[in-house]
Amino acid sequence: KKPVIAIDGYSSTGKSSISKVIAEKLGLIHLDTGALYRGVTLFALQNCTNEDGTLDFEKLFSSFGDIQLEFKNDHGELVLYLNDTDISKQIRSNKVSDNVSLVAKQKEVRDFLLQAQRSLAEKGGIMMDGRDIGTVVLPNADFKFFLTASIDERTKRRYAELLSLGIDADEQQVKQNLIIRDKIDSEREIAPLKQAEDAIVIDNTTLNKKETIELILSYLKN
Ligand code: C5P
Repeated sequence: KKPVIAIDGYSSTGKSSISKVIAEKLGLIHLDTGALYRGVTLFALQNCTNEDGTLDFEKLFSSFGDIQLEFKNDHGELVLYLNDTDISKQIRSNKVSDNVSLVAKQKEVRDFLLQAQRSLAEKGGIMMDGRDIGTVVLPNADFKFFLTASIDERTKRRYAELLSLGIDADEQQVKQNLIIRDKIDSEREIAPLKQAEDAIVIDNTTLNKKETIELILSYLKN
């Protein structure tokens, strides 16, 4: 049976891009759970705001039935659709990044996304990345990894990612966003960002993407 692999960690440690490569190599499905929280956040920003522009959470909670998030295969790339619109670029916007942790700390939102994540793993053969995969979503995963890296290195990576997506970015703002998100994610009551007791911790500050992938693969072989 193909393995279930959980990979959690701080923002911009490369979880998703690394998981994508490893999943391809091993013939596993890859699920970027952060993209789901970003998708719900985009929906909320578009449909559930108060007059002053803040998020109306009650409205969001009563609108879950109108949110259909789906990954579609587009020439080998998994593209996230929200109600049939490709949102893969929009979910990386600064506005979504600034709000996503506030949305993700809501119990209702986490409950809404939990079952979908779990049912995808039922048949095995999946690599799921996020913040609470090894602790809450898939506590019985066959392998658990937890990625960390220095804040300056992570800032550099996210900044480069945004520029490559054609999204305007300011390095100081990127750094602030990472710090704030990690703080909210770690301090929230429900499913906080933390390493599972049985996770393999990898600090990849001085490792590039390829080296991190090789290190993870070496654990998967044993
Ligand atoms: O992985 P990414 O940086 O795109 O995740 C965006 C945000 O989604 C995180 O900062 C966190 O607030 C939330 N998230 C979460 N649980 C997950 C994955 C992401 O709360 N499993």
